[in-house]
Amino acid sequence: MSLPTPHYLIDEQALERNLKKVDALRGASGAKCLMALKCFATWSTFAQIAPHMDGSTSSSLNELKLGREKFGGETHAYSVAWSDGEIDEAIANADKIIFNSVSQLERFGGKAAHLPVGLRVNPGVSHSHFDLADPARPFSRLGESNRARIEAAMVRVSGLMLHCNCENDSFDALSALLDQIEQRIGDLLERVEWVSLGGGIHFTGENYPLEKLAERLKAFAQKYAIQLYLEPGDAIVTNTTTLEVSVLDIVENGKAIAIVDSAVEAHMLDLLVYRETANIAPDAGPHRYMVAGKSCLAGDVFGEFSFPEPLAIGDRISLLNAGGYTMVKKNWFNGVAMPAIAIRRRDGTLDLIRSFDYADYVASLS
Ligand SMILES: *Cc1c(COP(=O)(O)O)cnc(C)c1O
Repeated sequence: MSLPTPHYLIDEQALERNLKKVDALRGASGAKCLMALKCFATWSTFAQIAPHMDGSTSSSLNELKLGREKFGGETHAYSVAWSDGEIDEAIANADKIIFNSVSQLERFGGKAAHLPVGLRVNPGVSHSHFDLADPARPFSRLGESNRARIEAAMVRVSGLMLHCNCENDSFDALSALLDQIEQRIGDLLERVEWVSLGGGIHFTGENYPLEKLAERLKAFAQKYAIQLYLEPGDAIVTNTTTLEVSVLDIVENGKAIAIVDSAVEAHMLDLLVYRETANIAPDAGPHRYMVAGKSCLAGDVFGEFSFPEPLAIGDRISLLNAGGYTMVKKNWFNGVAMPAIAIRRRDGTLDLIRSFDYADYVASLS
């Protein structure tokens, strides 16, 4: 059986492969792992994911409530800035609350005094391939960086959050970054009970030295007598999901162009934001096509790929690694039909868990 396109297809077996690594890391390092819902919030999968994690973390009140309601475990509340209108509900749904600045801590810390309270600190160092996503970029507002203000606030917090990695697949780079963090704020780490290192560590990648990471984290935690947290998002869902599309038309303009029933900006936005291309497998063969979306955006291009046979209208293409930062960012640009969401169960059956139609498009506007 196959489902109509377009749809995101999440593979339970592939998720299980990543989750086994999460379990191994938690077991060997003692670090707790919280799912970062910013990356992936397709809650129908939480029943599978949550038993392998310690809870969830958030970047808004909506994510916080979703984590509390659908993920369970320990629920961390973080937002770059809480508003007066949302802070009470945030506190009511949180097991820990992390403020992004000392001014937010001063404004709302009193209300949260019955909870463990944390402060996001910006250590001024990071690992990121993109300025756009670099938390330590010049003039960054992500985390408090004023040493004197942090010092003065230390009596009010039991933990710190430092998120300074973005798609970091190098253990050596991570370890060097931890060294720098220790040099810069080791004295602060000594004064708290817990530290979250945030997300962005690609420890579920194929050749990632998981044991070395576990040892490094364990030693780090022991040195400062802290409970460590990691907040993986992408690492949980990497290579678990495809965007299934079909060829609608084939046109020629210097290259053979296959137009498919999806749109980069609407369904895999980060490809545009970070100027990357999608991937297919095996991406081999004598027939080369540019695979492009059906929106009116001139640069709506998924990438150029090789195929073993000429493409024909109706052919299916699976765009790989379409789980992280896709479904949470999808939008109705051009009114392009919204991809459904499906799960391939362990026994191979395909479950269509959500589909969207014209009424959803209408309901997204007024
Ligand atoms: C984005 C983010 C994460 C998740 O990052 P991934 O790269 O998806 O692992 C975790 N924590 C914080 C604070 C974040 O901003």
